[in-house]
Amino acid sequence: MKIIIVGGGAGGLELATYLGRKLGAKKKAEVLLIDRQPTHLWKPLLHEVAAGSLDSEVDSVSYRAHGHQNGFQFKLGEFCGLDSDRQCIQLAPLLDDEGEEILPQREEPYDQLVLAIGSVSNDFRIPGVADHCRFLDGTAQAKNFHRNLVNRFIQLNRQLKDDPAMKLRVAIVGGGATGVELTAELFNARELFNMYGLEQVTADNLDVTLIEAGPCLVPALSPRVSNAVLEEVKKLGVDVRLNTQVSSAEKGIFHTKDENKIEADILVWAAGIKVPEFITDIEGLETNRLNQILVKPTLQTTVHDNIYAIGDCAGLQLSENKWVPPRAQSAHQMASLVGKNIVKTLQNKPLDEFQYRDHGSLISLSRYTTVGVLMGNLGKGGSINLRGWLARMAYISLYRMHQVALHGWPKAILMVVADRINHIIRPRLKLH
Ligand SMILES: Cc1cc2nc3c(=O)[nH]c(=O)nc-3n(C[C@H](O)[C@H](O)[C@H](O)COP(=O)(O)OP(=O)(O)OC[C@H]3O[C@@H](n4cnc5c(N)ncnc54)[C@H](O)[C@@H]3O)c2cc1C
Repeated sequence: MKIIIVGGGAGGLELATYLGRKLGAKKKAEVLLIDRQPTHLWKPLLHEVAAGSLDSEVDSVSYRAHGHQNGFQFKLGEFCGLDSDRQCIQLAPLLDDEGEEILPQREEPYDQLVLAIGSVSNDFRIPGVADHCRFLDGTAQAKNFHRNLVNRFIQLNRQLKDDPAMKLRVAIVGGGATGVELTAELFNARELFNMYGLEQVTADNLDVTLIEAGPCLVPALSPRVSNAVLEEVKKLGVDVRLNTQVSSAEKGIFHTKDENKIEADILVWAAGIKVPEFITDIEGLETNRLNQILVKPTLQTTVHDNIYAIGDCAGLQLSENKWVPPRAQSAHQMASLVGKNIVKTLQNKPLDEFQYRDHGSLISLSRYTTVGVLMGNLGKGGSINLRGWLARMAYISLYRMHQVALHGWPKAILMVVADRINHIIRPRLKLH
């Protein structure tokens, strides 16, 4: 049997690792992971890469090396089509940085296929957003953001000698986790740039405007958490604009529905997600309004039993207006279930159904504080609100659990030690 997993993100790489160890290494099945990038970085770290608090080179996992150690193969390629009758997927031509073709369009046959291609930011087709805003959809965009930020701070430091009132203005649309966490990381970066030699740049020289269409920040969380987050970002000096809808963007300007203009040097879009459009053109996949692939409770797609979808790209309805949320914990839980279901398919056993368990949500405001809520076992099915050090530990443990799923406990513990050492020997901010 040949199992293909397309997308090595929070869900796909955990699944490839599980199936590689369970089936691939024992030659019970061929397990192939396909991703358009050669390395994996856990997506919830992208705002830290963008601000420079994390060096993506240090935390990235090479798919090829990881596959070699865990019993699966890896192929670099971009999934672009599916022929479900012939049971094969199509991969777009592979081009190098100069646009030269390295590999032509190819096909890859499968017996079981898992789509785990994640999501991208949703610009809701608002005019100008795609052309004038920065997005945090992948490592390349986050690194690009960081390079631009370093240059802007260097430029500002020079300009401040002539005009002490100059500011770097950043406007972020989306008061969800990504927007809020990026905001806090920018303030942390500003302080560290000052410490590492950009001495003219002080707290007065960074202006962040956080724009949210709804009446509160992090609307997916409880009012208590949302108020705590609002209080913390206001303490940093952020200009929070609630109930503000952006109607269009142009270079350096957001226009709002109430006919105001928000001008900034850097425009960031972090409001909502969707699955890339091309998925809706693939015959044999049903999709919802976010282009998520509709799946049954077994996580098999609604049309084909040998095609699964997991993570952000999967649409599983829990009740009339409630879908499994696009979060790392959903991708993790879905990967675990599909891993078990594929093994059960080999054993001709009935498949299990997905039960989403919300373990809570935590918002990291960089080194300032962490706020959130933990659900479930801790409070007999209830929830507890956390803030500060304990919340920070719970937030960090999410990434540590991902590392455990990929590398096992012994290596994951060594990685914690390596991180502590790096904290001592490396600068606290990526400066180039
Ligand atoms: C800045 C930020 C902060 C976040 N913070 C949190 C948080 O604190 N907690 C939380 O629970 N969630 C958080 N999230 C959401 C979380 O990152 C996602 O829900 C999660 O990564 C989804 O996992 P996934 O496996 O579905 O997709 P991803 O992790 O996005 O992986 C998708 C993979 O598919 C590959 N791919 C995409 N298209 C193709 C293609 N056509 N062909 C081949 N490969 C392809 C990509 O290269 C990628 O490796 C955050 C997201 C962002 C952007």
